Amino acid sequence: MYHSCCCPHRGDLCGRPEFCATNLWIYGDADHDAGFTRFEKDPSRPFPVLFISFPSAKDPTFAERYPGRSTIEVVAPIPYGMFDRWADTAWKRRGAEYNEHKQTLTARLQKELERNVPATCGKIEAAEISTPLSTRHFANYQNGEIYGASCVPARFRARVFGARTPFRNLFLTGQDACTLGVSGALFGGVITASAILRRNLMGVVSRPGG
Ligand SMILES: Cc1cc2nc3c(=O)[nH]c(=O)nc-3n(C[C@H](O)[C@H](O)[C@H](O)COP(=O)(O)OP(=O)(O)OC[C@H]3O[C@@H](n4cnc5c(N)ncnc54)[C@H](O)[C@@H]3O)c2cc1C
Repeated sequence: MYHSCCCPHRGDLCGRPEFCATNLWIYGDADHDAGFTRFEKDPSRPFPVLFISFPSAKDPTFAERYPGRSTIEVVAPIPYGMFDRWADTAWKRRGAEYNEHKQTLTARLQKELERNVPATCGKIEAAEISTPLSTRHFANYQNGEIYGASCVPARFRARVFGARTPFRNLFLTGQDACTLGVSGALFGGVITASAILRRNLMGVVSRPGG
């Protein structure tokens, strides 16, 4: 197992009654591409990466409001093809087989959580899972791709990604105007505002108090 995190606590209880704010990135193989390729061919194999975080630990008032409780997020990749057959079904009405599939995935993720963060064993009171179809339903990403277009070199060379479009006064923004993730989407906003105002705002937002 390859753990990558930004504090030394590895997500165990840090001698405190709540989980710490560390994000855990857990890889089963140092060769990430090989891990993903193996998993895509056979999704019953171990997840190639797991992201585990403790949102409640990042909320300074959570412990006060909900003493002795925590929230945990576990994110793992899954091929959209596994859900294709339910693509034409409606949210919450996808049928018993889909629900069973979700239960199986929930159990797999919970097992991984308990293995990597033993302090959670026997402590999970409620678990809820979303699938690529959930992301498609709520955010309109056609294949449930939570990070938008693939971040491969071709993407950064393609002119279609960016704030400007061939249409006058039509601008794009968010992660596909810059790069993936919340911070990528935020900077996508800066790039778009710069394009609209015809002024480079990067210096403004990177100035302390800017
Ligand atoms: C479960 C999950 C966990 C995540 N965890 C992290 C994390 O820890 N760190 C991180 O950096 N990123 C994380 N992400 C990714 C992050 O949420 C995205 O990178 C980010 O939200 C992209 O921002 P955006 O503004 O480009 O697009 P979005 O936030 O997807 O916003 C696009 C909006 O447009 C709306 N929309 C789509 N189509 C239409 C339409 N036709 N008409 C009108 N509205 C439309 C959607 O409903 C949505 O509200 C996570 C995503 C998910 C799903």
